[in-house]
Amino acid sequence: MKYLKTIGPDLKHDFPIFQNQPDLVYLDSTATALKPQIVIDSLTEYYQEYSANVFRGLYPISELATNKYEQARQTVADFIKAKDVAEVIFVRGTTEALNLIAYSLPRAVFKPGDEIVTSVVEHHANFVPWQRLALVVGGRFKVVNLDQDLDQVVTKKTKILALNYVSNVLGTINPLKQMIKRARQINPKIMIVVDAAQAAPSLSIDVNDLDCDFLCFSGHKLMGPTGIGVLWGKRQYLEMMNPFQYGGDMIDQVSIERTTFAPLPHKFEAGTPHIAGAIGLAAAINYLSGFDFSAILKHERHLWQASYEILKENPNIKILGSANWQNRTGILAFYHTKIHAHDLAQILANDQICVRAGHHCAMPLHTAFKIGASVRLSFYLYNTIEDVKRFGKSLKKAEKLLKIR
Ligand code: PLP
Repeated sequence: MKYLKTIGPDLKHDFPIFQNQPDLVYLDSTATALKPQIVIDSLTEYYQEYSANVFRGLYPISELATNKYEQARQTVADFIKAKDVAEVIFVRGTTEALNLIAYSLPRAVFKPGDEIVTSVVEHHANFVPWQRLALVVGGRFKVVNLDQDLDQVVTKKTKILALNYVSNVLGTINPLKQMIKRARQINPKIMIVVDAAQAAPSLSIDVNDLDCDFLCFSGHKLMGPTGIGVLWGKRQYLEMMNPFQYGGDMIDQVSIERTTFAPLPHKFEAGTPHIAGAIGLAAAINYLSGFDFSAILKHERHLWQASYEILKENPNIKILGSANWQNRTGILAFYHTKIHAHDLAQILANDQICVRAGHHCAMPLHTAFKIGASVRLSFYLYNTIEDVKRFGKSLKKAEKLLKIR
């Protein structure tokens, strides 16, 4: 039986930032997660012990770097249960992955009037590329609003449906499997893109079970380095897509007359990749895989509930989204009717409490709620109930300072 790590206050020892910042209450893991020592070590090891380029050198450290880079790809494939490792493309992050799809789909795939559908809940990274693509190909950009079901928007003409797995503002876990099934009933030829940026840190992902065509996530949100992320796509689509960038390593043959491209996944990985990033991402996935995903979710929900209890007592506070603690991760966004989100975040910051304030790259959603900004707390496996209490205390202090209540 696999030995699983337990979640508790001792976990903070795995994260050196807590030794360097002993007073830190980090409630912004949705923006980026903290890094365990094991991930930091994997980066140092690469730079100190075998810092060579991949696929080029015949000497041992280059071969080692190449092996580690390709092992990292296999680790990612196993993590999302992809059967074909060549369908895993390393990119900079979710943003690049989504843009890659939008840029690389051949224009001939689209007919005027084809629909591209996303939802009002999306992060801009899963909204703007589709809005732009629709403009360029003469398609119709359609958005599923908060009060709408998929069925009301998706039609036989919908070519692409791009949805988040977990909302970065509401923390809601979408019932994606059912949604994808329904979309395919409406149009069996629809292409389904999943933004799993907020799902990958907390949920066990299975691309086959979901039956999506593309899935993207960022390494840094699951405790890996910044600047590395993943695009997984079905071979049939990746094969028909144009390369995203041209240059070294993505070619097969180059002559003055023409260029042919390398097979998957290299066709989409032009130039020197983020080698250390890929190795660090694999280290993060291995670390994360040492936990039971249901225990991670349980922990996040426990902290979500504890902060919900504090906030719901406060008549000046409005929580965004559902009060249901099930079907969610540890993300809680709210606004204070008498303190601007940025002012509140600043006062909390003075107490070393890190939260996010603003629209969280989800302006259409904030517009739907008729607000400009909210405060977002996000909990991950290293947070503790003590962190929630410190947040509650600091919130009270802020209201006292500003003579509210
Ligand atoms: N999608 C969602 C749901 C996100 O939360 C984020 C980042 O917060 C992104 C996409 C973009 O990720 P990145 O900035 O790592 O490219």
